[in-house]
Amino acid sequence: NISEEQPVIRQLDEGAINRIAAGEVVERPASAVKELVENAIDAGAHRIAIDIADGGKTLIRVTDDGCGIAPGDLALALLRHATSKIDGSDLLNIHTFGFRGEALPSLGAVGRLSLTSRAAGHEAAEIAVTGGRTDPVKPAALRSGTVAELRDLFFATPARLKFMRSDRAEMQAISDTVKRLAMAEPGVGFTLRDVSGGGEGRITFRADSENGDLFDALHARLARILGREFAENALKIDATRDGIRLFGYAALPTYSRGAAVAQYLFVNGRPVRDKMLTGALRAAYFDFLSRDRHPAAALFIDCDPTLVDVNVHPAKSEVRFRDPGIARGLIVSALRAGLAEAGHRASTTVAG
Ligand code: ADP
Ligand code: MG
Repeated sequence: NISEEQPVIRQLDEGAINRIAAGEVVERPASAVKELVENAIDAGAHRIAIDIADGGKTLIRVTDDGCGIAPGDLALALLRHATSKIDGSDLLNIHTFGFRGEALPSLGAVGRLSLTSRAAGHEAAEIAVTGGRTDPVKPAALRSGTVAELRDLFFATPARLKFMRSDRAEMQAISDTVKRLAMAEPGVGFTLRDVSGGGEGRITFRADSENGDLFDALHARLARILGREFAENALKIDATRDGIRLFGYAALPTYSRGAAVAQYLFVNGRPVRDKMLTGALRAAYFDFLSRDRHPAAALFIDCDPTLVDVNVHPAKSEVRFRDPGIARGLIVSALRAGLAEAGHRASTTVAG
């Protein structure tokens, strides 16, 4: 009987849709931390505190002093494709980390998420969602900003829970995520704390907000994150070509690494992992480093948002340049020029 075998097409319910989306957006605790910290940065926060327990598996709490959410908007914040950051008319012109309106509904679908927030001119309020079921908004106590608390990540998706690595490995990934964001935002203070076992918790990473001009603030932040030695052996890079600006710090060949671990690349303030860009970095150092050494660098590419598509993947760590050749050429030429000049300076110092 054919009609019995005929597959039935049905629309998935919102809960299933959110759990599927969560599989893309939230791969592990570090991706949840990334989404919540990016939301805090987008909210204009100056200080962001991140508390973690058990590698983020039982608790991720992000507290910010940003603009907050009005009580009437709390339920919307948890709805899929609801965002305050774009109006949908120009997907090529994006200046915030977020824009998909996917993170909070995804996190609420696979864990227990609560948002406590206070916007200027409003009372504080709280909303909670557990495995996709949302509770009504209730009054809360908070002076300002937002506290996003995510407990028991993946409790609603046991298959994903099995893929978690050790607490230590997950904490390492969280720390790496926070460091990348802290490099991208030297004007924002970050504290990452491990509160496993109760008490005040152990501060794993702390960077106070840096003031001063862009390069001073960035240099101080890099010294904090990558170490004094990197900062003292780093060349300042600042070059612009065809509407694309490359700036940041790249280490002298004498400060190189056996593995490509200290390579941090950002496009329009967004940490990215991009083969084309790391390839360009390698090419720039080709004449200056032996094959088994890797350059250390923190480099920022800023351009008109219409020249680069950040819409490639929900986790948004990939980007696509409209003309990859320009970015690549700029990295290779600016770094080679800087390295050659530094080498020249070093040899004349020795000679003189
Ligand atoms: P997106 O960041 O793509 O807009 P999210 O699901 O991460 O989507 O967040 C939905 C909305 O909730 C945001 O657009 C913002 O208006 C609000 N929001 C989330 N986190 C914060 C925060 N920490 N401070 C202020 N508003 C927030
Ligand atoms: Mg977001």
